[in-house]
Amino acid sequence: MTALLNMAAAVTIAFPAANQKLPFVEKAYMIGAAPRGTQAIEVAGRKVVPYRTGAWACLVDVAEGTNTVAITCGGETTNHVFAVANRPEPPLPGAPKPPEKVWSKLEFCKDVARAHPRGKRPGEITIAVDAGHGGTDTGALSPHGLFEKNANLLQAVALRDELVSRGYKVMMTREDDVALVLGERPREAHEKGADAFVSIHHNAPAANGDAALTRYSAVYSWNKIGEELSAPIAARLAGALAPELPSKGVLHANFAVTRSPEVPSCLVEVDFMTSPAGEEAIFNHARRLEVAIAIADGIDDWANAASPGQEK
Ligand SMILES: [Zn+2]
Repeated sequence: MTALLNMAAAVTIAFPAANQKLPFVEKAYMIGAAPRGTQAIEVAGRKVVPYRTGAWACLVDVAEGTNTVAITCGGETTNHVFAVANRPEPPLPGAPKPPEKVWSKLEFCKDVARAHPRGKRPGEITIAVDAGHGGTDTGALSPHGLFEKNANLLQAVALRDELVSRGYKVMMTREDDVALVLGERPREAHEKGADAFVSIHHNAPAANGDAALTRYSAVYSWNKIGEELSAPIAARLAGALAPELPSKGVLHANFAVTRSPEVPSCLVEVDFMTSPAGEEAIFNHARRLEVAIAIADGIDDWANAASPGQEK
């Protein structure tokens, strides 16, 4: 499944490091900062307009093997060379197909789902907060080359502080810049009996999306108990960030951190790293606190909901 997804995907690279090798992709976002006094930028023969923030982004077509991208900036040309892996072999005819994602199976989780903390005070409720990516897994890149992993940790810490100030118990999957195995992230939340699991991420567009303009918030979940948690968080985020940031509300996704049949889980894509306006907002301290308050308000709504799926 991963190989199939990779084939259509684009990756975001700042400037390719020497000998950088990418998995098979057909397109790559090149991003960078425009030096002061830059009059024109041309990437791989294409004119690029730098953003007001002094950054630029450009989607380039890449080939298997060695790629050279010439970046001309203020009359000087620099060549960046990077390698792209070969296209994966198509599956043999008759090979078993990967199982299809069937969203209609959502109800099965009801049997093992942890009891909703209805009627409990925040001090009796534990929220697991997961800062996405970390260590060598940087996540998406912003136009100035800032890493999603760091944006996620800053936002997760702000959410932790907000939840603690409201009396919740909070467990964090990471508090440093460390790599975690994806499937391991929800483990502690399961073992130590967290009431909910919230993963914090910042988004990047699909290969055919517009890196400069694509921006929205969205909350992903997989099953009913996840949807019950996602809906009030998505609503509070949408309300807090309108009209600047549109919301796609609650979306379905079969992610390692959303498909727990036991612990209500969701993944919050707060904003887009790849858009210059998104980058500016994501690394703004006041906005980060606003987002933390909105997500915590959503968690309050969920914890206080009178009956499943119903907000107060
Ligand atoms: Zn992410």
